[in-house]
Amino acid sequence: MRNDKHVPAGAAATVLLSSDRPALAEQYDVVLLDLDGVIYTGQAAVPGAVRALAKAREAGLRLAFVTNNASRSPSAIAAHLSRLGVPASASDVVSSAQAAATLIAGRVPPGSAVLVAGGIGLRLALRACGLRPVSTAADRPVAVVQGYAPDLSYGLLAEAALAVRGGALFVAANADLTLPSARGLQPGNGSLVQVIIAATGTQPLVAGKPEPPLHAEAMARTGAQRPLVVGDRLDTDIEGAVRGGADSLLVLTGVSGPADVVLAPPQRRPTYLAADLRGLLEPQPVIGPVRSQNSVAGPIGGASSGAVGDRLAGTGRGSAGSGDGPAGAAGGPAEEAEFRCGGWTARRRPGDEPLELTGTGVPVDGLRALCAAAWSAGQVTAEMTESALRTLGLGAPGRPSGASDLARAADAGRGAPDLPLTLATEPADDQPLVTATSGGR
Ligand SMILES: [Mg+2]
Repeated sequence: MRNDKHVPAGAAATVLLSSDRPALAEQYDVVLLDLDGVIYTGQAAVPGAVRALAKAREAGLRLAFVTNNASRSPSAIAAHLSRLGVPASASDVVSSAQAAATLIAGRVPPGSAVLVAGGIGLRLALRACGLRPVSTAADRPVAVVQGYAPDLSYGLLAEAALAVRGGALFVAANADLTLPSARGLQPGNGSLVQVIIAATGTQPLVAGKPEPPLHAEAMARTGAQRPLVVGDRLDTDIEGAVRGGADSLLVLTGVSGPADVVLAPPQRRPTYLAADLRGLLEPQPVIGPVRSQNSVAGPIGGASSGAVGDRLAGTGRGSAGSGDGPAGAAGGPAEEAEFRCGGWTARRRPGDEPLELTGTGVPVDGLRALCAAAWSAGQVTAEMTESALRTLGLGAPGRPSGASDLARAADAGRGAPDLPLTLATEPADDQPLVTATSGGR
C-alpha cells in the first residue's frame, strides 16, 4: 500500500564536484533505467536515447531496464529495445510483474493459485516464482494480482473483486494513475486498481515504483554497488530512488516537466536533472549559492560546509534543501539567496516573493539554478515560479508537463522543429540560448 508519510531515506552523502569531474556514466556502476518516456514513447525511441546509451555502455556503465509496466514479458521488452538499437536480453529487464510475483511468493505456499487481472507478463512472472496463475475466483486463489493490460475485461475485474472479497491477498503491480501515449495520458493500472478498491474496500500492496519491492528486485538482480536511477516521473522513478537511498537523474522527455520539478516536494527531488539521456555523458554542472545572507539558504543538498553545492537534491536530510526544517515551516528564507548554474542566476527573496531568474545560456541550466533556489528553503508556490519559468520559455506551473515546452525551446533555438532535444549535451553553438531577466520587482 502506498505510504505517503514515508520519510525519504536520502541519497548518498554529498560529495562536492566540479565541472571537470567525469560524466555521470563514469561515476556509477549500474544505471536503472525507466523505459516509457525515457528510452521510448510508444514504439518510437526518444530522440538521442539510443546513441547516448551506446556511449554510456562504452564508458563501462551497465544498463538495467526497470519498468512499472507489467503487461509485457521481459523478452518482449528486450526485443523492443533491441529493435530500437539498444541491445538487451530478457535478463536485463526488471518489471513490476516480477516484483509482484516475488512479493506474493514470499507470502503464500509454493504452487498456490493466484488470480491474474492483467497481461502475459504477470502470468509468466508468477510461473517463474512457482505460482499457478488462474482466471476465476472459483479456483479459490490465495492472492489476486492486478497489472495493466489493454484488453482487461469487466468479467476479469469481477472475478478479482470476488476473490478479494473472499479474503485473497490483493497485490497491484503498480499504482500509476496515468499511462503516457502518443495521444496523451491514458488511464494507468492505478486507475483500474481503484475499481477493485471501490468494490471491495480493500487496499492493495503495491510492488512497483515508488514502493520498495521493484527497486529491491532491481538491486538484487543487478548486484549494483553504485546505482543511478533514471526516470521521467517524480512520483514513481524519483521518489522510488529517494526511498531506496539511490541517486537519481530526472530526464525531461516524459511525464514530469520543468514546473513539476521546481515545485517538487523533498521526497520527489532528483539528485540530477538533464533534458534527456545525453545527460549521462556529461559532468553535471556546478550549482552553487552565489550569495547567502543567513544560515537558512545554504548550499544545495543539505551540505553544511558553505562551499559550492554539487547536486540538485543531495541528501534530502533536513537542513536547507529539505524544506521540512524551520525554514520550511516559515515558508521561505529570512533573507535573500542566489544560486548560479551556467550563465544563469536564480534569486530567492525573503518570504513568498516571486523567484527571480537572470542570465543567459541553455534553459536546462536556468532550470537547475531555479530548482536550487526553490528548494533552498520552504516550499514555493506555482505563482512564485511562474515568471521565472516563462523567462526560460518553459511550462507554466500547474500544467501536467512542461517537457514539450523544453523541446520547443530547443527547436526554436535552432529553427528546426523536427530535431531532437539538444539542451544538455550538444556543443554550445548548437544550443538554444536565452537571455532574459524575470521575477524581480
Ligand atoms: Mg516512465
